[in-house]
Amino acid sequence: MATLRDIVYEDVREGELYEKLDRNRVRCFACGHCCPIPDGQPGVCKVRYNRSGTLYVPWGYVGGVQCDPIEKKPFHHAYPGALAYSFGMLGCDLHCGYCQNWVTSQVLRDPTAVAPPLRVAPEELVREALELGAKVIVSTYNEPLITSEWAVAVFKQARSAGLLTAFVSNGNGTPQVLEYLRPWVDLYKVDLKSFDDRHYRQLGGRLQPILETIQRLHDMGLWLEIVTLVVPGFNDSEDELKRLAEFLVSVSPDIPWHVTAFHKDYKMTDPENTSPDALARAAEIGKSAGLRYVYAGNLPRQVGDFENTRCPDCRALLIERFGYLIVGYHLTPNGCCPRCGRVIPGRWASSFQGQVTSRPFGLRNRTRSDLLSILTS
Ligand code: SF4
Repeated sequence: MATLRDIVYEDVREGELYEKLDRNRVRCFACGHCCPIPDGQPGVCKVRYNRSGTLYVPWGYVGGVQCDPIEKKPFHHAYPGALAYSFGMLGCDLHCGYCQNWVTSQVLRDPTAVAPPLRVAPEELVREALELGAKVIVSTYNEPLITSEWAVAVFKQARSAGLLTAFVSNGNGTPQVLEYLRPWVDLYKVDLKSFDDRHYRQLGGRLQPILETIQRLHDMGLWLEIVTLVVPGFNDSEDELKRLAEFLVSVSPDIPWHVTAFHKDYKMTDPENTSPDALARAAEIGKSAGLRYVYAGNLPRQVGDFENTRCPDCRALLIERFGYLIVGYHLTPNGCCPRCGRVIPGRWASSFQGQVTSRPFGLRNRTRSDLLSILTS
């Protein structure tokens, strides 16, 4: 009987982000590991592999599809209320003990993670996204950098159909993969998990490639938001959060920073869940460092004003949220504060377009009438 590995290794095509080395070895540039891969072996991510001197990469399937409010990705400065049609593949270049998507991200590393891939064409994903009223199509759930060729194939179709495109990523990029993505990605969220290289090494990565990716994405002009999951006892010291926030300010004080609440998951069950006070404290550190747009997530109505967008000059309330729900929208048609006229950085529609849903919902195994009832409830 074919194993999951057999199936995943069948759904491939030659990659575009690699170079050939001597002795049938290759070097992959899809993520910051830049693996040199001997013939017959996979890279660290387990889903890109070298066969006879050619790098094969995932192609033609999804590990999961879901419709999310864009606020869940989270993007707070990009088309509030939009429906984000989200797909993922399988595998990851990191192995975070608290991964919330471990069933798909760790599928070839952890025998308890089982997520059979579903074969699909880019056109089918785009068609479904349009039918459901999505504005944005997002590569997410597993690490999208390691499946960049497939994401770009989907995004090319999506762009020609009038959709926007987004990456929700750990940011472990390289100059090559970012140049490859640049023409096809509108919005990019980076998960900056820590500001301590030792912590990153526990998760299977390094800090420096992530910092360089953040700087590059900003310089390239992609719309960028940053998330930090605040894990008690892991990355929540005042010193670490302060240095992290100061780094973001050095790139741009206009980058939105989301601090989100940890809850026990996968292999990380020792730390306590993040309390509302601890999350608000982290957000205050970001504000004090000079970030103009700081948000606290995963704890609706428990973090005071940190769910809302306010004008950094006159403090007018611009976008009011309750969790993922948009409660009030007051930006001008050209994305300015209606009281003082300050330009608010982001990607804004000329007016609020309403919200398709404030709750995520899965797509597979649902009938069309199920979906319509969710969308109209
Ligand atoms: S995507 Fe990253 S981990 Fe996977 S083979 Fe390429 S460099 Fe290695």
